[in-house]
Amino acid sequence: MIEFDQVSKRYPGGHEALKQLSFQMPAGDMRFLTGHSGAGKSTLLKLIMVMERATSGQVVVNGHNLTRLPARRIPELRRRIGVVFQNHQLLFDRSVFDNVALPLVIAGYGHRDIGRRVRAALDKVGLLDKERQNPISLSGGEQQRVGIARAVVNKPALLLADEPTGNLDPQLSAEIMHLFEQFKQVGVTVLIATHDLSLIARMPYRLLSLRNGQLVTAGGGDDVAQ
Ligand code: ADP
Ligand code: ADP
Repeated sequence: MIEFDQVSKRYPGGHEALKQLSFQMPAGDMRFLTGHSGAGKSTLLKLIMVMERATSGQVVVNGHNLTRLPARRIPELRRRIGVVFQNHQLLFDRSVFDNVALPLVIAGYGHRDIGRRVRAALDKVGLLDKERQNPISLSGGEQQRVGIARAVVNKPALLLADEPTGNLDPQLSAEIMHLFEQFKQVGVTVLIATHDLSLIARMPYRLLSLRNGQLVTAGGGDDVAQ
């Protein structure tokens, strides 16, 4: 599903954010991407979404070699990837329903299909009764669940999250992580960047740990490069 082979990323100005990174993540896996601020977590996620391109090495996602992927094929690839952000980037000028519907509207789905899929996504995150509300009236945890519903409404095979619990207390963070586990259980590949080590310590998933743009082996003999 995701394969990095000797991937380096150097930003204009010379900073090398990722150095000779190699790992494979099979379809259906759930993993945490950890590391200090500036370690390269967001850069790694951006390479998978083709928001940035590798300076050298190969990134293969879903069988597509992103190093060679022409720009015109990027939207099609992105439709198959759900993304959850820390600040969830919801639009406060429209309802919960319309926020979640946005990716489907952009993809050109019909009215009936949109209603069905949006409600299925809201049901999965437990917010079916809030579809008509404005997200500004929801709690932080509920807003993040709307962000997750929007990320999965297209039924992506791959779900990426960048510090999805960054603004939440421990209890709500655990609930959000449990939601991600439920997507893993139905076959979605899940990669979550977080620096909240206490939150993930008790979860039975592999870590991809970055330090200064390089993979370091996680504790407990976990073979991160497999
Ligand atoms: P993390 O998500 O782990 O905090 P990032 O991937 O955001 O790390 O950043 C890795 C390094 O790359 C940092 O030193 C950061 O300052 C640098 N960096 C990130 N984005 C850019 C950019 N657009 N231009 C130049 N340097 C960048
Ligand atoms: P279908 O066409 O599948 O029967 P609709 O799309 O007409 O379903 O919507 C069914 C219900 O959802 C209706 O009660 C409708 O008012 C409501 N609904 C539709 N669009 C929105 C929206 N943007 N925000 C909130 N509720 C909506």
